[in-house]
Amino acid sequence: MFSARAYRFRVYPDRKRSEEIDCMLILAQRLYNGILEKAKAGYEKDRNARINESTLNGYMKETIANDKELLKLYSQTRQDIFIRVLKAYQNFFRRCKEKKQGKRMAAGFPRFKSRDRYRSLTYPQDNGAFTIEKNRLRVARIGTMRIELHREMEGKIKTMMIKRDAGDYYAVFTTVRESAPNDMADTQPVSIDMGLDNFVALSDGKTIKKPRFFKMRARRIARWQIIIARRSKGSKRRDKAKLQLEEEWKNVTNQSNDFEHKLSTALVKSGYTSFAVEKLNVQDMMKNHNFAQSIQNASWNRFIQMLSYKAESAGMKFIEVNAANTTKTCSNCGNIQEMPLSTREYICSICGLQIDRDINASINILKRGRAGLARTYAQGDSVRLQQGATAKELRTYSVVDNRGGSPHL
Ligand SMILES: [Zn+2]
Repeated sequence: MFSARAYRFRVYPDRKRSEEIDCMLILAQRLYNGILEKAKAGYEKDRNARINESTLNGYMKETIANDKELLKLYSQTRQDIFIRVLKAYQNFFRRCKEKKQGKRMAAGFPRFKSRDRYRSLTYPQDNGAFTIEKNRLRVARIGTMRIELHREMEGKIKTMMIKRDAGDYYAVFTTVRESAPNDMADTQPVSIDMGLDNFVALSDGKTIKKPRFFKMRARRIARWQIIIARRSKGSKRRDKAKLQLEEEWKNVTNQSNDFEHKLSTALVKSGYTSFAVEKLNVQDMMKNHNFAQSIQNASWNRFIQMLSYKAESAGMKFIEVNAANTTKTCSNCGNIQEMPLSTREYICSICGLQIDRDINASINILKRGRAGLARTYAQGDSVRLQQGATAKELRTYSVVDNRGGSPHL
């Protein structure tokens, strides 16, 4: 069994190096948009024309032939940009197909990326394009910079991504490793539900309150949104406010990262032998529009990811179960009844069970986990979302009020 993990470290490029990164990001954005522009022209000329991988590859070659500066980009990074366009395209065609099948939605042609929406460069293979020596990271075509390796990486490094976020720089590594066999006797299983009032509710009745900063940060984010909307497009003052907003998101991500790490470690160490959680629909999660909720969703996602690798590293099972009706079902008799959000207690109309709504849901998750309706994470077939990525995706969707485009890279 293999499992994939992502590690994010702050890097400190000096002025020259950071200019180099910024310059590469501009080139990457130019290449992305260049390929897309040709594809768009092709599509508008003939809506039935097949635009496939090799067509797009041709577009990429043309774009580079007309703009030799793009060759400054590391070849594998160019390849990654190509894959990003390809994915945006495949998603577009998938949406078109779903629309044809009657789903009510806008297909939305892949969007051009603005400068502040293109902020990462990927080095898709560990083939000498990047190396770490002591506390220095060397990246091909960019140079050497200090890296803050605050955690040890486990497993074999597969890819590296340089990211710019609110004026700071990060290196994100993904690693793959063989996971420990699940040989622990499952004597104290527990399940976890994302609660309404609680951050988590455990099937044994314990709850962890939502951290207060969720709400506080959400308020500040909402305020910056309003300020940005008021200021005129392209103005310096608006750019400043955008930077402030990014800063807010960065702060909330860092703060909740810390909270998630502590909570997942504590849970793995508190004597449980396996964990069952509900499988959340990421698509549905992205649809929501309030900042406090999107902060919580992103946080929950990261928390689950941390818990899954920490549990698996400790030889415990980590099970994801189908979340349908876990709130509405009576954990005692299986009766299903409506549970409006305002109802905090589950009172069963059949057997009379009276229990906290979150804990009731949690017990249902545990039962499903035990019944083997589940699939474990460590199958190696699904590389989970990279740490931090979810927050970004959610951010795009809430900030840019559902343009439905491709996720923010
Ligand atoms: Zn009942």
